[in-house]
Amino acid sequence: MNYDPGAPKRITHIKDRVYGVQSFTDEDVQYEVDLDNQTCTCPHYVKILAGTNGKCKHIQATEKEEVNYHLIQKARKLKDSDLQKCLQRYQRIYSALKIVHQERQLADRRNAEMKALFS
Ligand SMILES: [Zn+2]
Repeated sequence: MNYDPGAPKRITHIKDRVYGVQSFTDEDVQYEVDLDNQTCTCPHYVKILAGTNGKCKHIQATEKEEVNYHLIQKARKLKDSDLQKCLQRYQRIYSALKIVHQERQLADRRNAEMKALFS
């Protein structure tokens, strides 16, 4: 069987930049991550990483999720009508960005083909 490091199941806000993170392998266990102080209460951090500036997987996962967490909190405060407006606007922006991205990929592919033909 392959080693499975698991994925964080749930991150909850405790206070300020302190979050509760479920253990990657045992959902009954929760660790506390403090992003300002860059600490975690998991055994890996406490026994090995403390004082080394090292980041355990819970700190890394929480850093990635923090932006999403705050965006979701902001979105929850929107009125229904504003939520609809934002969705429409960002879907249009997303579509435009996707088209330009595809155009660039196509241009890159054509350039690579031309280079291959004439080199
Ligand atoms: Zn940890």
